Amino acid sequence: MSISIPNIKLNNGQEMPQVGFGLWKVDNATCADTVYNAIKAGYRLFDSAADYGNEKESGQGFARAIKDGLVKREDLFIVSKLWGTFAEYDRVEPIARKQLADFGIDYFDLYYIHFPVALRYVDPEVRYPPGWTYSGKDGDVQPIKAPLSRTWAAMETLVEKGLAKSIGISNFSGSLILEIIRGAKIVPAVLQIEHHPYLTQPTLLELAKEQGIAVTAYSSYGPQSFVELGWEHAANTPRLFDHETILKIAKDNNKTAAQVLLRWATQRGLAVIPKSNNHDRLIENLHVTDFELKEDEIKAISALNKNLRFNNPSDYLGTLHIFA
Ligand code: NAD
Repeated sequence: MSISIPNIKLNNGQEMPQVGFGLWKVDNATCADTVYNAIKAGYRLFDSAADYGNEKESGQGFARAIKDGLVKREDLFIVSKLWGTFAEYDRVEPIARKQLADFGIDYFDLYYIHFPVALRYVDPEVRYPPGWTYSGKDGDVQPIKAPLSRTWAAMETLVEKGLAKSIGISNFSGSLILEIIRGAKIVPAVLQIEHHPYLTQPTLLELAKEQGIAVTAYSSYGPQSFVELGWEHAANTPRLFDHETILKIAKDNNKTAAQVLLRWATQRGLAVIPKSNNHDRLIENLHVTDFELKEDEIKAISALNKNLRFNNPSDYLGTLHIFA
């Protein structure tokens, strides 16, 4: 069974599928099969990162799908991200090349700066992925001096050298986006942010629109992804899947709560990248562009906003207060 997913046209003319598959916390043991089966189900965009630690296995899934004739490389839209320990200008290209080698591909369709932070370098031979700390010990977060404008300039060289077709930014707020654009040769093509009904960020979306930057929403199910990590903050938040507003809209549209949450984003022009290790859900999550919510339903969902952010380094590191 296959489905056609609409594309979003990026500011450089590249087309990005509006629905993709998120690879964070996809088990290493099953990752290659999950990717292969996701391609079989119709997924074309895969959202990865150095930090997810499963780039090799994802690459094995791509290779098998290509070998079996399910897709060609150019049908796929492969996304990865630069981790903060590689933020210095001279470290960007070598790590991007390592990540490409891990995937077994020679270009990324999109490569993001994962977070607007610069951390002390950890040699991949010592620990990879490095995570947030220098030594691997809790609390050992070591920010360094490495201006964002230089990181971005290095990202631009990846495009010039054909290693990335598009470059983007993730977890950036308004003033940083404007600062990047002030010095950029290449305006970011995509902004990836936490976005769900408890964190709607309307002015950030407005800014991205004004600047011609597409937006990809992550953690579309709000607390769900973070409950799995055992985070109290998320466990104490009412699940969006059980919220009466979402359940009523789901029932009225004969869809699941998950599909309503994703459609609320796609109908407003955002891309989504839900993650699931479960094959039925993975298929369910793909069918989120082929029905229409009513305007009052969209508004009712947006009204659930609480400015509640889960993926905030302040909360889990006690430092790197990037959303202050
Ligand atoms: P998500 O909102 O996609 O939720 C994932 C969890 O929801 C799954 O583990 C599963 O338990 C559950 N789920 C999935 N589909 C379901 C369904 N149909 N019905 C019921 N439950 C379902 O969370 P996420 O993984 O945090 O975000 C998606 C992707 O976004 C990630 O995999 C990653 O690629 C990306 N991401 C990026 C950043 C960043 O800093 N840029 C941060 C977090 C996530």
